Amino acid sequence: MPEVFADLVGQDEAVAELRRAAAAATAVLRAGAADRAPALIAAGPASDAGSALTAGGVDPSAGMTHAWIFTGPPGSGRSVAARAFAAALQCVHGTGCGECPGCRTTLGGTHADVRLVVPEGLSIGVGEMRALVLRAASTPSGGRWQVVVISDADRLTEAAGNALLKAIEEPPPRTVFLLCAPSTHPDDISVTIRSRCRVVPLRQPPAAAVAEVLVRRDGIAPDVAQWAAAAAQGHVGRARRLARDPEARKRREAVLAVPRRLTGVGAAFDAASALIEAAEAEAEASVTEADTAERTALETALGAGGTGRGAAGAIRGAAGQLKELEKRQKSRATRAQRDALDRALVDLAGFYRDALTMALRAPVAPVHTDTAALAGAGAQKWDAEGSLRRLESVLACRAAIEANVKPRIAVEAMMLALWKG
Ligand SMILES: [Zn+2]
Repeated sequence: MPEVFADLVGQDEAVAELRRAAAAATAVLRAGAADRAPALIAAGPASDAGSALTAGGVDPSAGMTHAWIFTGPPGSGRSVAARAFAAALQCVHGTGCGECPGCRTTLGGTHADVRLVVPEGLSIGVGEMRALVLRAASTPSGGRWQVVVISDADRLTEAAGNALLKAIEEPPPRTVFLLCAPSTHPDDISVTIRSRCRVVPLRQPPAAAVAEVLVRRDGIAPDVAQWAAAAAQGHVGRARRLARDPEARKRREAVLAVPRRLTGVGAAFDAASALIEAAEAEAEASVTEADTAERTALETALGAGGTGRGAAGAIRGAAGQLKELEKRQKSRATRAQRDALDRALVDLAGFYRDALTMALRAPVAPVHTDTAALAGAGAQKWDAEGSLRRLESVLACRAAIEANVKPRIAVEAMMLALWKG
């Protein structure tokens, strides 16, 4: 296994900062082991550094802090970066070697002192957060750090955010919080939480860097890797899926066929239905297996089919637990549908962006090389202004769905706008 930061594509500055912090964290542990109590510098809300943990002689700005936020566009590798940093903190060599038990178990998701929070519904609730904060306060069993990774911190409810804030304001000495969010805008992260964290901004990786990692790590042929990296617009995970999964390629082709299908009002509504239904089907395929496995596991744990004394009471309790599970699964399905629809909209936006750059004769490579001719025809017909209007209506649709407009309504409005131009 290569060292833990190898998969962070095109993020040299962030990786350098994380390496320095991991080294500083190890220095803190050594100082603690040598019975020199490590200094804890609690920074005020105005400070950018958060509360810095420094061993004697280490520059505080290069040091370790209790709370971090990884920001960047989708697919830039926020959660990959957080997980790699968690591994470096648990690495027995303090470097993130990728080989030792600390690195391996963290990356494999089985380290006892690393907790990953991946919200399955639309938001992370206060109950879940309180339980997490409580467990994170315990002494690390591996003797290093208790690390909590929150992969979509922008999906915290307000109450959950407050529970987290309390923990970040007075962090237990060996606890580290790693938050991931699209940005540090107050819509994504509360100002008070942000003021206690050090921010690690990630960039959208260039297509060439994404292609390189697909070839090196996943053994994908160079020409396929280049096509997928461009089509995925800097999203590493999406590029890998396009390169490997024929179903994902078929779905993308269907989305990119939308512009030439828009021949009238009826066709616009049909295209809207097709897009929504494809997202539903994709989402269902992605959650069905997990749903069934969870239900079977819960029924087994509850002793399904049990008889005898106490069975009636057990069944009443079981009904409540099954209902709770169904609620969680429904929320996860909604989230999966939105994610699938959003991927489709990003592909569609790429098409109109291509038309726009061609109308402007901008010297940039197209996002979708396979529909470049079609985008070129659109550029001639619509000119830059018409291409831009269409691109904006796709982006407006994404924003509307993000703001909780019913997806079907938003997509129908978008299709009509794309047809009318
Ligand atoms: Zn290691």
